[in-house]
Amino acid sequence: MNELLATVSLDADSGRPILDAATRAVIGHAPVQTVADLEVAVAEASAAQPAWAALGHAERARLMRLVADDIDAHAEELGEIITQEQGKVAGAGEAHGAAHWLRGAADTILEPQKLAEGSELHYVPLGVVASIGPWNFPVMIAVWHIAPALRMGNTLVIKPSENTPLSVLALVEIFRRHLPSSVVTAVSGDREVGAALAAHPDIAKIVFTGSTATGRRIVESSSANLARLTLELGGNDAGIVLPGTDVETVADKLFWGAFMNTGQVCAALKRLYVHDSVYEETVAALAARAEAAPLGSGHDKTNRLGPVQNPAQFDIVARLVDDARIRGARIVTGGEPAAELGPLFYRPTIIADVEDDAAVVYEEQFGPVLPVIRYFDVDDAVRRANGTEQGLGASVWGADTDAAADIAQRLDAGTVWINQHGGVDPQVPFGGTKASGYGLEFGVEGLKAMAATKVIRF
Ligand code: NAD
Repeated sequence: MNELLATVSLDADSGRPILDAATRAVIGHAPVQTVADLEVAVAEASAAQPAWAALGHAERARLMRLVADDIDAHAEELGEIITQEQGKVAGAGEAHGAAHWLRGAADTILEPQKLAEGSELHYVPLGVVASIGPWNFPVMIAVWHIAPALRMGNTLVIKPSENTPLSVLALVEIFRRHLPSSVVTAVSGDREVGAALAAHPDIAKIVFTGSTATGRRIVESSSANLARLTLELGGNDAGIVLPGTDVETVADKLFWGAFMNTGQVCAALKRLYVHDSVYEETVAALAARAEAAPLGSGHDKTNRLGPVQNPAQFDIVARLVDDARIRGARIVTGGEPAAELGPLFYRPTIIADVEDDAAVVYEEQFGPVLPVIRYFDVDDAVRRANGTEQGLGASVWGADTDAAADIAQRLDAGTVWINQHGGVDPQVPFGGTKASGYGLEFGVEGLKAMAATKVIRF
């Protein structure tokens, strides 16, 4: 067992077993913490907050950079835990990404603003921030929550996903080695603990990344504490491939926009609308890439696709593909488990001749499956792309980038990419519209989301 994992994992008789996503072997035991443990964590985080805020921006940023350096120094160890728990290839890449985002928040400047004569707008700490996260990028998304909150002088209590607690506990262990006590605390509990955290009277802000269904429950919980919310919820991102697109030029980016992290990405390409004139060529190009992409354990760095992280998500993926098949869609490649690799492997799947009323189009698959939908008229494609309740990301693909930018203006999404899909940057705000949530992360906007405002008038 690696040293970092040994630090956070409990004995078999006192913790809950956590399985390797690829092999289903037990990799360690996570604490089973309760609402009583949560009470202690919130009380300690509240007590620690004023001194943390009093350190000031420069000192907090210095400490955050120290943590970032230590995450980089432990990236292989932390990455191994991520790969075990989550299944992804090259977990160390996620660890390095987390360090990069932490530095990004440390380096971002948010100055008070001078307003009308004699008035200033200041950004001040909120207090204790609750972070509730998912299992697809457990460490990266935890840092997306932690970094701006710390930078703005808040302390945090984090509830990791019950599917991937050990990597987040290991991350928090690294933070704790450099920060004052109780500035960042993880409580490894179930949904009940998450619900209690969201409703806790001493929580000033909740940053939540997860499903739309849970996001709605968090809105209800926060009616009690009136906590401010940043909600990064589910996505069902559409892409539109325009007539005249040079398919071979964009095929790799189309494929990886959908299949990065084995499709378990909030802002992955999840429905692709392709003009009839390039439809068959696009389907063939995507299928060729699906067949060529090495699938297997994330521990083997020559693989590019790994397992689905958990059995419930695997069942969703299999159900959506089976439903499409029954409706007469064409399963061009994949469409079945890769059982010889392990119980949670599913072959990368391209579905053609599928319509908007198939569940794989209107529901979020969050796995290695892409439905490719034919269209004849661009206005019709825009209407259909906007036809789901989510609005996280979208993309437009074509040789004429001005035409693509015009279409981007008409798509209901927090981000629209052109000739790419899914890229994010620590300085570029990211967030959803419609049922994909509200509030922004990253950059100056991300810092503002972790602060209260105060006007001072002279
Ligand atoms: P989930 O909603 O099932 O769980 C997320 C977290 O919420 C877990 O920690 C869980 O324990 C906790 N939780 C559950 N019920 C709760 C309650 N009533 N109150 C408080 N907390 C509660 O989501 P998941 O399956 O872990 O993640 C997958 C989903 O997350 C997908 O829909 C995906 O699109 C979305 N996601 C969105 C983004 C984004 O940035 N928009 C990023 C990653 C994932």
